[in-house]
Amino acid sequence: MPYADLILPLPLNKVFTYLIPRSLEHEVLPGKRVLVPFGSKKIYTAIVKNIHDSEPVEFKVKEILSVLDQEPVIAEVQIKFWEWISSYYMCSEGEVLKAAMPSGLRLESETRLLPASNGQKIYQITEKEALILKLIENKPLTKISELSIASGGIPVYGTVKSLIDKNIIIAYESLKEGIKPKKEAFISLHPSINTENRLHEIAGLLEKAPRQLDIFLSYLQISGFTGNNLPAPEIPKRRLLKNRAGNGPVKALIDKTILKETIHDVSRLLPTGEELKEVSNLNEFQAEALESITDLFKTKEVVLLNGITSAGKTEIYIHLIKQELARGRQVLYLLPEIALTAQIIVRLKHIFGEKAGVYHSKFSDPERVEIWNRVLKKDEDESYRLILGVRSSLFLPFTDIGLVIVDEEHENTFKQFDPAPRYHARDAAIMLASMHNAKTLLGTATPSVESYFNAQSGKYGLVNLTRRYMEIALPAIIIADTREARKRKKMKSLFTPQLLEGIELALSKKEQIILFQNRRGYALYIECSDCGWIPACKHCDVSMTYHKNVNQLVCHYCGFSSRPGSACPDCGSSDVKTRGFGTEKIEDEISIFFPGVRAGRLDLDSVRKKRAHEKIIGEFEAGNLDILVGTQMIAKGLDFSGVSLVGIINADNLLFFPDFRAHERSFQLISQVSGRAGRKTKQGTVIIQTGFPDHPVIKNILANDFRKNYLEQIHERKQFSYPPFVRLFRIILKDQSKEIVEKASSRLAENLRKRFGGRVLGPEYPLIGRIQNRYIMNILLKIEKGVSLPKVRNVLSKEILYLQSQPGFKSCIIIPDVDPV
Ligand code: ADP
Ligand code: ZN
Ligand code: ZN
Repeated sequence: MPYADLILPLPLNKVFTYLIPRSLEHEVLPGKRVLVPFGSKKIYTAIVKNIHDSEPVEFKVKEILSVLDQEPVIAEVQIKFWEWISSYYMCSEGEVLKAAMPSGLRLESETRLLPASNGQKIYQITEKEALILKLIENKPLTKISELSIASGGIPVYGTVKSLIDKNIIIAYESLKEGIKPKKEAFISLHPSINTENRLHEIAGLLEKAPRQLDIFLSYLQISGFTGNNLPAPEIPKRRLLKNRAGNGPVKALIDKTILKETIHDVSRLLPTGEELKEVSNLNEFQAEALESITDLFKTKEVVLLNGITSAGKTEIYIHLIKQELARGRQVLYLLPEIALTAQIIVRLKHIFGEKAGVYHSKFSDPERVEIWNRVLKKDEDESYRLILGVRSSLFLPFTDIGLVIVDEEHENTFKQFDPAPRYHARDAAIMLASMHNAKTLLGTATPSVESYFNAQSGKYGLVNLTRRYMEIALPAIIIADTREARKRKKMKSLFTPQLLEGIELALSKKEQIILFQNRRGYALYIECSDCGWIPACKHCDVSMTYHKNVNQLVCHYCGFSSRPGSACPDCGSSDVKTRGFGTEKIEDEISIFFPGVRAGRLDLDSVRKKRAHEKIIGEFEAGNLDILVGTQMIAKGLDFSGVSLVGIINADNLLFFPDFRAHERSFQLISQVSGRAGRKTKQGTVIIQTGFPDHPVIKNILANDFRKNYLEQIHERKQFSYPPFVRLFRIILKDQSKEIVEKASSRLAENLRKRFGGRVLGPEYPLIGRIQNRYIMNILLKIEKGVSLPKVRNVLSKEILYLQSQPGFKSCIIIPDVDPV
């Protein structure tokens, strides 16, 4: 079969067929990476999708240049999953490939090369390798494409690959990030020391060398080795050297063949050598829930675990993971955001140790390659069996998943927005699990309307967990009426008297406080009191947010920033005031109202640096902060034992956000944040500041009535035709010219109406009508149940392609967003 269909990392929705040259006949296999020419100059790394013998007729096929892998790096089921993502979310398989694979696994003609710095040239290298190496040495940072030219057009990729494999040259990206698996030294006893008697002998022998004896005894103590429980365990050398001066005695013992040193590659991602903890016993309610989940999994692919905050859902997950790993299958544990991972990683790594790997967006590319390879490893001991990660971990090279857990399933951050593939990780996880014949557990205290609907209709199993672990009382909720307080002139800055009193009381009892505000920055905007001028972003239709500690106005949509002048540029007045409150201002106000109080902040701005969020959370946990101010980042999954008060500064900007999910989200967010109050120790208090104390969502929160809120929402969704009763497709049009975007979108809407009639809504400008100098318009398509979705997608793609081919509209970017959130 001389032809191969390949996936190229390009946003083109087509199959790329290449010829397999005779010489590579036995090497080309599905799931392997190959190098192929594309266009007149470019070379790409592509993935072999399948092999066949039907010659393409429309074009002349090119040949595969070389095969990069001995074994496939992409499993068959992965390719199937990519295919599904690309068709469901309307993008090319190449775009999925780009999102899925770390770029370190993709050599391209633009990849730059450098000689490896270790300089050891003890390798056997071929003549061709020597030639290429010379070229690179003469001109470091040469692109692969330049090499082909310099070497007279001979195909150089295979040679480059083998030089990289031999560690003689390095691809620039990986150098930049500093690739090198971390090494760690481990100590064990020399294998000749294998009885209790020998241990006594050696102890006697070492009497004259007290420092060596000390190390020897310390090894026995840490490792728990008695002479009988063979083989003697390895312990990290650093633990042995802890609080001791110098490596001398250890070295002496190694020389005397009493100790043995081994160097292992260890992942830099999890500390090693810590003792593992036992799994906790479940209480009767957790045990019952676990049993129901296991039972339901016999008949359902998906189970929704609706357990209130602090019910101990994580403990239930741990039991399920343990069972699944014992069966020898892989487990994927999805979390919506990196901020959430810190605490859960610690909990899980204490149980699962080296079997657990973490994957998220803050990792560098080499780190991702490392994790990728460890998932791929066949050797049970070295491979990750449990992956804890954010949405992109769906793309890791799993071969046999048994269970997927989607924690906080209601979170909208599970949806990828830009770039393609615009997938919803929860929904994609369910599909991935079913491709592996695995089960999916969705867990949350506040299910999404869609998932709860599926549970109600019997599509998913439903398990409720209504008791908190140790029966800690739910927090007392106090509604603080801001309009009333304002009328009576009782507001102090952004605080109602109730909230101020609450904070004071908690501080006096040395209890911690969380203050929630859904906006970051200092002021939402600044305004001239005389003429009403508000600085707006040059590139977007939005006012700039004021960040006081850097004294900058920042656009939260494109990142553009500028320094505010001291006077209004319109009228010259110096009376320019800040309006509205962001997290930064709350932090500021606290220091005014409560001098000396230690406050920290957790929002996008404060966690930009790697590990910053772990640090802030750690400080708060350790009691070094009295108050933590934050955005929704603090709402999720964090478990602080010292918090007695949670304050919601302004519930109204959640309730009145113009989106059909606003009420659902307000309920979720406020319940989640409230759940942080009074865990473990005793009942906590939540103070919600709102101008609308009678709002139905506020009432449902007061009554802690998730079901009532759900019923109200589902009623509205039905009445106004929103998911889950219809499927939404949002078509986003962008162009630098306002005229083009308006024309293009009304033409597209018109054409779509001919096919879909009244199911087409818009075009409309979204809330922010211009971002990064591009005007934006949206068209919404509502497709009721029973209509064939493949057909809808087909018509939609055709109409988009047709419009883009029309004169005047070529510059217009048109993006379909399936199941937008
Ligand atoms: P949830 O995820 O439902 O909000 P967690 O799993 O975080 O709840 O549990 C809340 C707290 O109770 C955690 O500190 C956890 O360690 C503790 N906990 C829950 N179940 C158990 C158990 N079976 N044994 C010991 N501690 C538990
Ligand atoms: Zn002015
Ligand atoms: Zn902007």
